[in-house]
Amino acid sequence: MSAVRTSGQEILLKGIAAAPGIAMGPAYLYSKLMPRVKMRSIKPSDLKSELQRLRNATARSVKELQKILSFAEQKLGSQDAKIFEAQIMILNDSILMGTIEDRIKDELKNAEYIVSDEISKYKRLMFAAQDEYMHERAHDVDDVMNRIIRNIQDQRLFSRLEGESVIVSEKLAPADTVIFSRNQVLGYVTDLGGVTSHAAILSRSLKIPAVVGLRTATKHIRSGDFLAIDGYAGFVAINPTEETREGLKRKAKRFKDFEKHLVGIVHLPAETIDHRHIALSSNIEFPEEVEFAFAQGSEGIGLYRTESQLIGMAKYPTEDEQYEVYKRVADGFFPHSVIFRTFDVGGDKLAPDAYQEENPFLGCRGIRMLLDHPEIFQEHLRAILRASAKKNVCIMFPMISNLYEVHRAKSYLDKAQEDLSSRGVPFDKRIKIGVMIEVPSAAMMAQEIASEVDFLSIGTNDLIQYMLAVDRDNSYVAPLFQQFNPAVVRTIKMVVDAGHKRNVWVGICGEMAGDPLATMLLVGLGLDELSVIPSILPEIKDIIRSIKYKDAKRIADRALAMSSDTEIKEYLSSVVKSKLPEIPLDT
Ligand code: PEP
Ligand code: MG
Repeated sequence: MSAVRTSGQEILLKGIAAAPGIAMGPAYLYSKLMPRVKMRSIKPSDLKSELQRLRNATARSVKELQKILSFAEQKLGSQDAKIFEAQIMILNDSILMGTIEDRIKDELKNAEYIVSDEISKYKRLMFAAQDEYMHERAHDVDDVMNRIIRNIQDQRLFSRLEGESVIVSEKLAPADTVIFSRNQVLGYVTDLGGVTSHAAILSRSLKIPAVVGLRTATKHIRSGDFLAIDGYAGFVAINPTEETREGLKRKAKRFKDFEKHLVGIVHLPAETIDHRHIALSSNIEFPEEVEFAFAQGSEGIGLYRTESQLIGMAKYPTEDEQYEVYKRVADGFFPHSVIFRTFDVGGDKLAPDAYQEENPFLGCRGIRMLLDHPEIFQEHLRAILRASAKKNVCIMFPMISNLYEVHRAKSYLDKAQEDLSSRGVPFDKRIKIGVMIEVPSAAMMAQEIASEVDFLSIGTNDLIQYMLAVDRDNSYVAPLFQQFNPAVVRTIKMVVDAGHKRNVWVGICGEMAGDPLATMLLVGLGLDELSVIPSILPEIKDIIRSIKYKDAKRIADRALAMSSDTEIKEYLSSVVKSKLPEIPLDT
């Protein structure tokens, strides 16, 4: 989630693709002023009018929400509009409202103070739950609270736009999303939130492109700035160049045509014409993505980035807190398998108490940090093991660079298993373990590593960075970050062969797996699994279903004999264009 200045005035922000689509237009920076609440004492003689202020405000809030509800029902259908019903229920809760009135009478304090204090108690409990879902619900409660307070204070919220705009905000409540959609909203861009925030879910239902979790969007963007947003890839370009705009326009057109066709294949198997099955799974980071990954036809979770749970945390979550999240994901995807990758912190990924390192990508990252902190590693492994009781969980270790690290990681896993067994806690005693191949030394040692585990998963994002000495996040060297560099392609082939020699399956979970230009090549190189972001999954499946394994192997053989990235890319483009003219490339 970093900001990168590309050519001229263009600034690119990377976030989370929350609702598909492309949008371009002026930004409208929506800063929702939170009502300020001060405590005031009231005279007993003012009590009656204070209670009346509260009741009027509550009634007005209910009316507003009913309007939003009926609008949302028309636009979204009754299922998705249910959150507003839930908000109305909070306002109609006689126990809550009774407690608030009683406290105003007993404490002789102003209505907005008591409303804020009483409802905040619930909010705090929900935020303390360390559960992404509860956090989202806490935002709903927050929204209701602010609505009543605003109405007590007789403030009005602006929600009318002058012409078409991309709404940019720190966060958006579901009600904001719906209300704005009555205007000419082109897209949503937020600092906070994941794919799973209600605002993101509603944007998908409303078919309004959205990019969330950008962290610094409101810092970089001013009202009136021209924005181009890519809700497929999770990018926002501020003051985009002509080239960016044209590229996005072409992409929008291709996707529109293609999406119509993809709907029909979502639940068909990912199988080539000559019946080679490829396990097509998803990379996700939050439990709320499970539903979307499943709806996109995902066969499993090929990469669950557990470190997402550490975002914004001052300390590591406890074993129980971690377990709650992993169990939700594992149960949500049951009976299909979920691969939990152990915390990959360091590098560009922040961790609580991270070391200050000169060169963090070559420092204490991934498995190195875990092996350095056995207490954190043990709790983490126990949490994953506990979520494996239904036997659909696998564990994967990141950033392995030698065999010794595999041995050490496995011995910690044995210890975690012994701990749980001695306490009689259920878990899968035959849990499958895998290693990410993302460091060149691990690729070279893939056969030996494969003898120790059940599967290998190639992380091309890092493998390319370390093989080609190109920082994956540095826009200055971006053209050198070449997925189709012959050294990369040949290394993938070497790892696949090494794994197969040792009878373990080999997958790929780097971004390359989700590049339609790479699909035929990867299938032909013999990969058993492709793990991709859920939004691209149907498209990759469509390619797999349109080719013969026999042809893919031939294509891979030719690519393996080539000597430059450009040569391979041009060759693959020409093959895709001739064999699969309907596939939109350059996603
Ligand atoms: C990779 O390196 O390819 C990978 C999938 O891991 P991450 O992007 O989380 O480093
Ligand atoms: Mg990686």
